[in-house]
Amino acid sequence: VLAAPTSWTRTTCVYCGVGCQMEVGCVDRRLMAVRPVDSPVNRGHLCVKGRYAFDFNHAPDRITTPMIRRDGQWQEVTWDEALCFTATRLQAIIDRYGPDAIGVLGSARATNEENYLAQKLARMVIGTNNVDCCARVCHTPSAKALKTMLGTGAATNSFDDIEVAKAFLLCGVNPTENHPIVGARIKQRVLQGAKLVVVDPRRTELAALADVHLAVRPGFNIPLFNAMAATLIEEDLVDRSFLAERVTEFDDFAVFVADYAPERVADSCGVAAEAIRAAARLYAAGQPSMCFHGLGVTEHMQGTEGVMALINLALLTGNLGKAGAGINPLRGQNNVQGAAQMGCDPVSLTGAQSIKEAGPHFEAVWGARLPVNRGLDLLEMMDAAKAGQLKAIWAFGYDVYLSLAHAADTAAALSPLDLVIVQDLFLNQTAAAFGTVFLPAASFFEKDGTFMNSDRRVQRIRTVLPLPGEARPDWWIIQAVAGYLGKPQGFSFGEPEAIWDEIRQLWPAGAGLSYARLEGESLNWPCPDESHPGTPILHRDRFAVGKTAALARIAFIPTPEQVNDDYPLLLTTGRTLPHFNAGTMSYRTPNAELRPTDTLDMAPSDAAAYGLADGDTVRVRSRYGEALLPVRVTEAMQAGQLFTSFHRPDLFVNRLTSSVRDRMVHAPEFKVTAVRLEKT
Ligand code: SF4
Repeated sequence: VLAAPTSWTRTTCVYCGVGCQMEVGCVDRRLMAVRPVDSPVNRGHLCVKGRYAFDFNHAPDRITTPMIRRDGQWQEVTWDEALCFTATRLQAIIDRYGPDAIGVLGSARATNEENYLAQKLARMVIGTNNVDCCARVCHTPSAKALKTMLGTGAATNSFDDIEVAKAFLLCGVNPTENHPIVGARIKQRVLQGAKLVVVDPRRTELAALADVHLAVRPGFNIPLFNAMAATLIEEDLVDRSFLAERVTEFDDFAVFVADYAPERVADSCGVAAEAIRAAARLYAAGQPSMCFHGLGVTEHMQGTEGVMALINLALLTGNLGKAGAGINPLRGQNNVQGAAQMGCDPVSLTGAQSIKEAGPHFEAVWGARLPVNRGLDLLEMMDAAKAGQLKAIWAFGYDVYLSLAHAADTAAALSPLDLVIVQDLFLNQTAAAFGTVFLPAASFFEKDGTFMNSDRRVQRIRTVLPLPGEARPDWWIIQAVAGYLGKPQGFSFGEPEAIWDEIRQLWPAGAGLSYARLEGESLNWPCPDESHPGTPILHRDRFAVGKTAALARIAFIPTPEQVNDDYPLLLTTGRTLPHFNAGTMSYRTPNAELRPTDTLDMAPSDAAAYGLADGDTVRVRSRYGEALLPVRVTEAMQAGQLFTSFHRPDLFVNRLTSSVRDRMVHAPEFKVTAVRLEKT
């Protein structure tokens, strides 16, 4: 019998970009229960992850003592020894190879304050712009596309708008499994009469409910979105007054996109031309129509351009700058927007500000010169490591080896490094295979700070549990390393609120988001002063790039990752409802029983053709590697296509995934890998 909690503390769920508010109940030093809060985000509900996936905190294999690997063996050490070792090795690399031989990786498991300090340490103490975060492999394409075309690299609208929208366009996103509270709100709205278009190769729950389901062939988003744009123009479904006031390049765009008429591209996209036209008509007629997209758009060779092609649709129909509309990336982890926004990005500072323009202000506040070399992003760091130019990597809450595509290539990058610093809760795959020093971190239940969710809402997380053993919050560890490197100036904050106040000083759009205000509410940035109510809807009067935005002519370039006789099936990867990303946390909770394993999902016709049935283990082989996976036969899959999740380290699905990257920001093309099946 579980004891009833004796204390309840409000905090924010880390597991997806929705950012549900919840109360956490404890008895003594143990977390016993989670219950929902009736906040504007989750309205009294939580999904199965937020509600039940918390026992990882107390897992017996949680690492709560610093460790150094010597002669291949991990040895527990004191913090003093670990910090001294880390600082000495970092300094030796700086002295011998220069600061650009080091890369720093923040992550969504760290708070805004911690990600800010990570990039501050990279730039101010180490002296490199080689700083990035896990957003690189998911929504950096969204941020790039939105910033390029509209001026702000974030969702244009708030979740509050779901109840206002009259139509939804969901592209490459499965919110029922991956953003369940938003998925439930969309479903509710559709059941009340809102129209729904779903673009997804799989027949997801919302696809089954949709007025139009475009089961696009993986890799063909660009011609499909262009065909929708062509339909809007050809059938005069555009918003003429919006175009006249706020959009440029229309005439050239109309000529360009006419080549993508639905009848020309339908066969290659794997959908009917009339279905493309029907989708465009529903989107145009919705007014307002709200677009959500996910990694099914971004994790492609043309991921950034895919988001740009979606922005074209919103510009053509005037679905920007008003309630119930917009282009809204659904982010995978709660603070992934925050990690990049705080400056864990090689080419921009906190608040996505340009290094060139905002640099002098940062230098004045930090009292230090910023590095001038262009920083490497995560994928470029891997390339530099393979080439022997990068010598050390420091990863906060990010299992690089397990998470990046083409694991053999990642191993080839990580293995020659002189120093791999892993800061995490568990001995993850990166630490186990390549780690040099392990610094035990606090979980989000064990520290204070802020997270930033998918709709630009900043919310507090609060300390619920005491720190286990010698584990420390990331912000404490970063400051300690700065001190051991002999540069404590600017790294002597006593608590996260003081770090946040420095962030507000440097980030004009966040200046009004004081802890005092966040105590009672959540606010969407931009929020430039303490009397500002926040900005749930961007671009109401003008775009951040100026009054007008230009339509983008996006030519389709097929990915080199194609099926052939040797690799006749297309594999896509993604997540499932009970689990969180690499599974490090959720597989140490009762959620493991809800879905004990990743599965290889396939259509009944493919299963019959290969003589496979539910539960059979099959060897999946790609041009990059192989993995053994249990088969699950499901009507949700189309013939010739496979899907698997990537939660279980032992199955290690990223041994299969492709080395192709987004052309503009290098996000891996997780969504298209040609494979073959071999019976075991
Ligand atoms: Fe809410 Fe997402 Fe957490 Fe589920 S995983 S409780 S939807 S924030």
